[in-house]
Amino acid sequence: METKEMNDYVEKIKSNIWEENHNIYQILLAEDVEKCRKNLLSRAIDAELAMKESDMPLILRSVCIHGFDVMKNLLSKRHEKMLGFSTLDLMRKSANFDESIGDGFYVEIYHLFLAMQGKPKIYPSFFMEEKEYKFSEENPGVDRSNFLDVMYGNIEKFLNKYPSGLDFEAINKRRKNKEKILNFFGAGDDDWNDYRWHLRHLFKSMDDIENLKKLMALTNEETNAMEIAIKNKIPFCITPYYLHLMDFDNADRKYDHQIRAQVIPTIHYVENMLRHTKDREYKKDFMKERDTTPQKGITRRYVMISIIKPIQTCPQICMYCQRNWQIMNPEEEDVFLTKDELEKAIDWFSEHKSMREVLITGGDPFMLEDDAIEHIIKRFSEIEHIIGIRIGSRIPVTLPQRITKKFAEMLGSYVKIGKKYVAISTHIEHPYEITPETGEAIRKIMKQGITAYNQQVYTKETARRFESVKLRMELKKVGIDPYYTFYPQGKYETKNFLLPVARIMQERKEEARLLPGAFRTDEFVFNVPKLGKNHLRAYQDNEIIGIKENGARVYLFYPWEKNIVMVEPYIYVDQPIIEFLDDMVRREERYEDYESIWYYY
Ligand code: SF4
Repeated sequence: METKEMNDYVEKIKSNIWEENHNIYQILLAEDVEKCRKNLLSRAIDAELAMKESDMPLILRSVCIHGFDVMKNLLSKRHEKMLGFSTLDLMRKSANFDESIGDGFYVEIYHLFLAMQGKPKIYPSFFMEEKEYKFSEENPGVDRSNFLDVMYGNIEKFLNKYPSGLDFEAINKRRKNKEKILNFFGAGDDDWNDYRWHLRHLFKSMDDIENLKKLMALTNEETNAMEIAIKNKIPFCITPYYLHLMDFDNADRKYDHQIRAQVIPTIHYVENMLRHTKDREYKKDFMKERDTTPQKGITRRYVMISIIKPIQTCPQICMYCQRNWQIMNPEEEDVFLTKDELEKAIDWFSEHKSMREVLITGGDPFMLEDDAIEHIIKRFSEIEHIIGIRIGSRIPVTLPQRITKKFAEMLGSYVKIGKKYVAISTHIEHPYEITPETGEAIRKIMKQGITAYNQQVYTKETARRFESVKLRMELKKVGIDPYYTFYPQGKYETKNFLLPVARIMQERKEEARLLPGAFRTDEFVFNVPKLGKNHLRAYQDNEIIGIKENGARVYLFYPWEKNIVMVEPYIYVDQPIIEFLDDMVRREERYEDYESIWYYY
């Protein structure tokens, strides 16, 4: 479906919605709003009871039940009070085609009505031709196996769209990019294999932008946004290693879309970072880490684990970093905790016997010198109650040369079977980021008995059908286990990366679930500011309580403490699904492939 067809599709829904739902339409037109609420509610309750007694296929009934739950939530006066707006009012306005109501609202409620009628546009699935399957009595096992082979064949068509950094073509292309960079700097292989050479040649200044232009194709927007970032000291830098993962010959982002998006800012990003400079101290600290900092350098949100951040910089800066209010370019002052602050922070862990794991993060702690990181690990290894020392680092992707044999052996020397483990949490976003060099870095670590996990931030740049399934497959090839898939932080300056919560739920159910269990070990989470991770697989942990005029769903997220202690839930205004689908269509995706997204509540 192209953009024009997408517009036609929306227009068709708008012209049909009230004809197809004439009874609801009549109720919405009532003059008295409370009478309208009462009638809609009693109609919904009656219809729900009738549906439960009907012979509707059970698999459709489950969607139907969720639809009625959402509708009842939307009609709640308490929710209206909490949100400061009334979805019922918006529905009434939409019945009059009030111009304040956006397309996203019409499409959202149209699908909600379909869900309540047990007619969701789910089957046949986007990658299957049949709605249901039936097997012969003679050979059911063979039939099912053949059917599953057909299913895999259809999945493979999607997987083949996404190149892996382990593919021959990518390796070859990058070999040439590497030569180009080395020739440009008059350097050789020894330099390339030395991580310090990369740190000395980070692309981060106005002169570097000129160098970038000589090395690779860039769009005007990319160049402008990088220049604005540098002029205004918005953290920005790229390692030569990461640069060589990009496709140098053209800037169409056909294959390297996610790689570029990860480190090259957009105009939206830089403009909004600038706009919020004054409230830097608060606004961009989306996770309210200041409210969970018992001591400088520590973040504590959970019972048995806390984070220590000895360093506030990374070899390069991710554009959606949740700590973009703290992360600085590598050369800046004050990127390290002072010696005294560091010792006090580690002492805090010794004093808190509840701590069973420490996550050493930052920034990227592998930016520290070997002896500095060893000092920290050694001190944690001496704290008896700590079982796990986990280090969060994106170095395996941004600068894998940093993981030298000596460094890996040093880390491994703190693995004590029966007492302590050491683990690495890395952060790989896309199969195109995984290279033989990343694999080699992980192999050195694993040889030492250290486990490696991946935390993916599920952004719009990685959200095409089966794109993250391909990532999980490539991760397993280099020995990394998927660990968390994060919903990105809902901050305005990183809005370009955001997608609807429903997409992450859809990916889990319709794509990740099709992998063998060992490939899909990641937990899908939404980070509730101040409180921490909310499991998106747990339906009882979140609910929709409103829909805004642009179609954005409003969720109530219950924190992990639910059923343990009484804690205030968190209200989150999501991205309108229609905007996500528009973006996907602009990226030449088919709208139809995502249509079931409307039924993830
Ligand atoms: S590696 Fe992590 S801490 Fe560093 S910039 Fe990226 S997201 Fe932020």
